[in-house]
Amino acid sequence: MTDKLTKTRRSWNMSRITGNDTKPEILIRKELHRKGFRYRLKYKLTGKPDLVFLKQKSVVFVHGCFWHQHGCSNTYRPKTNKKFWNTKLDSNIARDKKVKEILESQGWNTLYIWECEIEKSLSDSVEKILNFLNEKSNNSG
Ligand SMILES: [Zn+2]
Repeated sequence: MTDKLTKTRRSWNMSRITGNDTKPEILIRKELHRKGFRYRLKYKLTGKPDLVFLKQKSVVFVHGCFWHQHGCSNTYRPKTNKKFWNTKLDSNIARDKKVKEILESQGWNTLYIWECEIEKSLSDSVEKILNFLNEKSNNSG
């Protein structure tokens, strides 16, 4: 991995900490908007999904591979402050699982888009969201 990528990832991780809009999320939003999809931001739901589609009763999370421990090659455990990081990251994993359970028990469809998928192909990631939404629209008639 190049230094440049590492730097990008680090700033992305930092922005996740502060809860600001992050670049991958913005890219996804712009594409969806361009395709005419309407969604809610910061809709009050368990786990604060990144995108909420009321009509399809669907939520989309854009997840950082590090923070949410995707298990892909972007995923790692820091070697310093091991105890802190393991506790932090394990609790993130547990929270994600709980959030998914709660949302699904409330009838929401959940989709997760990973940072590495967006890095690989933005259009494929958007396509994945659109397919997911179309499927949910069809199912509800
Ligand atoms: Zn990943």
